[in-house]
Amino acid sequence: MTATRRAASAAVTAAAGVLALAAGVTGLTSSFGSTASADSSLAALKARTEAAVSVNAHGLNAEGYEGDEAPEGIDVDDEVPTETLVQRAAAVAANDSVSSGRAGIGCSDDGRSGNRVQVMYVVAADRPDRFSQVSGLLRSYSSEVDSVMLASAMENGGRRQVRWVHDTSCELVLEHVVVGAKDDDSFPALTSALKAMGHNRPDRKYLLYTDAAVLCGVANVYADNTPLSSNANNGRFPQYARVDAPCWAASDHSVEAHELTHTLGAVLSFAPHKSAAGHCTDESDVMCYPDGDGVRMTQSCPTTHEKLLDCNGDDYFNVNPKPGSALAQNWNAANSSFLYDPPAPALVSGTYDGTTVSVKPQVLSGQGWSISWAGSGCQVSSARTVSTSPKAASVGAACRQGGTVRATLRQEDGRTAQLVVTAGATSAAPATPAPGTAPAPATTATLSANAREASIVAGKQAVVQGTLASGQAGVPGLRVDLQRRTGSAWGRVATAYTSSLGTVSFSQLPRATTTYRLVFAGGSGLDALSSSAVTVRVAPKVTVQAKGLRVSGTVSPAKRGTVVSLVKASKRVATSRTDAKGRFLLKAPKAGTGYTVVVPGSTVVLRNALSAR
Ligand SMILES: [Zn+2]
Repeated sequence: MTATRRAASAAVTAAAGVLALAAGVTGLTSSFGSTASADSSLAALKARTEAAVSVNAHGLNAEGYEGDEAPEGIDVDDEVPTETLVQRAAAVAANDSVSSGRAGIGCSDDGRSGNRVQVMYVVAADRPDRFSQVSGLLRSYSSEVDSVMLASAMENGGRRQVRWVHDTSCELVLEHVVVGAKDDDSFPALTSALKAMGHNRPDRKYLLYTDAAVLCGVANVYADNTPLSSNANNGRFPQYARVDAPCWAASDHSVEAHELTHTLGAVLSFAPHKSAAGHCTDESDVMCYPDGDGVRMTQSCPTTHEKLLDCNGDDYFNVNPKPGSALAQNWNAANSSFLYDPPAPALVSGTYDGTTVSVKPQVLSGQGWSISWAGSGCQVSSARTVSTSPKAASVGAACRQGGTVRATLRQEDGRTAQLVVTAGATSAAPATPAPGTAPAPATTATLSANAREASIVAGKQAVVQGTLASGQAGVPGLRVDLQRRTGSAWGRVATAYTSSLGTVSFSQLPRATTTYRLVFAGGSGLDALSSSAVTVRVAPKVTVQAKGLRVSGTVSPAKRGTVVSLVKASKRVATSRTDAKGRFLLKAPKAGTGYTVVVPGSTVVLRNALSAR
């Protein structure tokens, strides 16, 4: 990581902080050994451990603000227009030196269990809430973090991806968190606020896209060198990586990856090339920069390595560390249980029905893939399939009896699998295939759209998803806009870039029933396209309290004049209108059960009987 250095006075504080904490860990080890008190509860042990090893990685940086140095050209006090964030997502999508055009997260198990990274959009209550505009962009930025892990692991002959919190269709779960007006003023203030809201799970690392202009990035890391799975950075405490808007996808390396890597346990005091304050000195490297007085940098790896972790794989991240080396004997972030080793792809269930060869690829979600078809004694209709569906792939084939089709699956991470399908004796294939009879592959571009839920309650997220495809193949890395209909006009509300499978996903917070569509402006040889319209119904959220015969409550979103009715046995028995705050008050004519409060789009059944006191 290269950074502008303007002054270096405050960095000494950070250096001293790290040294003091290194001493703290030594103290902790001896206290384990000497006390060995049988009565020390796990909670007390955890509290002591946290106190001993907790370290805010960065203190104040050389420029006097909290956290990491901002990349060159970035001022952390500058507000960042949404349009700039869109341009940065375009740069991420175009950046294939790390990702080979990959833009989609890895999918691991059920997306919920075990240790995982939870991505959040965090905004203070006194700031503009841009969740709806930036959600698609944050997905792109997060996928780049996954790419950094994968490409860095591949340097040493292995693979790692992030265990994100994701849904069953492998879409990143992006939480929308509004904190108090002052909670974004510092990293400690923000982490306290999040903990108080219940975002304090030890099996989560929280990647906080904080829509503030306070700092660049900051994270907490525990100064624990032990190479065991019980390492303090490996799921014993909740950990937080905060990146403010000025530094979202801001430079030729990912600040998001930098901060998340801190929380994985990097760079620790055993590292041969450690800096003064939790970084490294052997450039080029995501985690290296001169973070204190007297820190001397070396250029050990090419500048193209700036995007990747651990130049020479000897300080904090290596899937195959050199035996006997410091990294082999201490904590290695590549062993973090918040990462996983994606399984190799496979091809199973090859069949031939006389006209079509079908196979089932087992591939990693979030990774693009293709299948090459080669016939021997078979004429295949297409040499290559790039599929959007991870479930099945097929090719038209006209085979002589005993002819074969070899399917070679190539997954985006470079791994391959092969399957040979033989045309059996029972197939009705002609002995000599007639040329030109094989179906021509479709090449029409399409843009589909759907809502994950067609109907939501006000205040919940609506997720609009879609796929940009050319023929059967998803088209990666292209810009798709989400538009919203107002009257008869369409206006853009958000932008995203397609994943390696051609998909996009937007999270929205519509206040009322809203119609959306996706729009592709054209490019990469494809014509401009609009999807069909998708309507998300938004039911108002109604809260109701009853006291005696009086039924009161609120309807949100708050709006003056919404008609609220009290209904019993299909008969309206009382009516009221909401005030400007959405509040209403109804009076039941008599005691009893079976009352229902009805507002347009929503009905609440009163469970308890109303009583005349
Ligand atoms: Zn840092």
